Amino acid sequence: MSRYSAFEIARNALSGHKRWPLAWRSPEPRRRYDIVIVGGGGHGLATAYYLAKVHGLKSIAVVERGWIGGGNVGRNTTIVRSNYRLPENQAFYDFSLKLWEGLTLDLNFNVMFSQRGVLFLGHSDSDMNHLAERGDAMRHAGIDAELLDIGGVRRMAPLLDLSRSARFPIVGGLLQRRGGTARHDAVAWGYARAADALGVDIIQNCEVTGLNVASGRIAGLQTSRGYIEAGRVGLSVAGSTSQLAAMAGLKLPIESHLLQAFVSEPVKPMIDTVILSSLIHCYLSQSDKGEVVIGGDLDFHPSYGQRGSPARIQEVAGQAIAMMPALSRLRMLRCWGGVMDMSMDGSPIIGGTPVEGLYLNGGWCYGGFKATPAAGWTFAHTLANGEPHPLSAPFNLDRFEQGRLIDEKGAGPTPQWH
Ligand code: FAD
Repeated sequence: MSRYSAFEIARNALSGHKRWPLAWRSPEPRRRYDIVIVGGGGHGLATAYYLAKVHGLKSIAVVERGWIGGGNVGRNTTIVRSNYRLPENQAFYDFSLKLWEGLTLDLNFNVMFSQRGVLFLGHSDSDMNHLAERGDAMRHAGIDAELLDIGGVRRMAPLLDLSRSARFPIVGGLLQRRGGTARHDAVAWGYARAADALGVDIIQNCEVTGLNVASGRIAGLQTSRGYIEAGRVGLSVAGSTSQLAAMAGLKLPIESHLLQAFVSEPVKPMIDTVILSSLIHCYLSQSDKGEVVIGGDLDFHPSYGQRGSPARIQEVAGQAIAMMPALSRLRMLRCWGGVMDMSMDGSPIIGGTPVEGLYLNGGWCYGGFKATPAAGWTFAHTLANGEPHPLSAPFNLDRFEQGRLIDEKGAGPTPQWH
């Protein structure tokens, strides 16, 4: 799959990597584009790629205030799954999972998608009832799910504390074998390179500071690199969604909160699946470099800062060690935070807005990385055709007015906003 011969690779290695062509251009913004996507995260780049590839559109720009991959796409714990209970979520996330399965080939860029399985732990009879119901609903929708007893959990993750005296005793779990992880930066770079090759202008260091609306219709964007006229504008800015929408006079049912993640020093393989506990909201996996990747709950105060509070670090470390005592021997290498766009029913918002020509892809909460391919695909359809894709139609903004919430909280042990 490499575009380079062994000779070229060796020549570049020996010449200080000076001859590599850039993976994507760095163009000056044009005066006008048919479609401008705000936000060069995974979703914005995927949207641009599918607009060019699937819909054959030519005049597209992605404007990013920082650098490609500097937002949540490069800050998440990389869990990919489709183990949802509600039909709207099942259809959307399983479509996404199918796109993940072909993504490396499609982009000709190794996104290191690893279907190592995603295991949700059950800590009580009540948890197991919920997991059994969810597994039944998944299989009914054609999605793989296996209910495990404690022996099955032991085979998947022998280092978990499976004793009766554990702080959070484990009695079983629900496994989705097709779930797993992907290399997050590679997803951003792969989409960026493929979109650029199809003529998309990716404009970094270009902050949108205002949206111009004339007679109820989007007209253009004020940016730190000048004014850009646009036929249609798609917002894909994750934790900044409320701020961008406010520039067009919209108030959204979204709050921005901080979520942290942690990695340990790299060690030999010790965890070969993804483990989540909904009860304590702690999740673990091991990266291909050997680092144990650990995630927890929100810091639970609205914030746009990307640094987390020490109290959450202590809590998550304690929970992870309680689940898997061997982790207490590891040193933490680093931690970081990302700003989550938390919607009020825990589901995303994809579709049109009251401003003609202005479209929204946000409200992804904790779960937008796994959605990257499907969000890009359906948002591209919406921007290209001016109408929702059937898979994203239930996730429109109107549902909050109409009381059609898509809330998995009532359908399983998953906490709100997961
Ligand atoms: P981003 O990468 O944040 O892209 C948005 C971009 O918009 C940013 O680059 C930002 O700079 C840009 N932007 C903002 N304002 C402006 C402006 N004014 N002008 C121009 N550009 C602007 N999801 C999962 O599915 N699985 C997980 O395991 C998971 N774990 C997570 C763990 C953590 C710690 C965090 C922080 C998130 C996690 N998520 C997870 C959620 C997931 O990362 C996000 O939902 C998803 O990445 C959001 O979409 P994005 O990639 O497009 O966002």
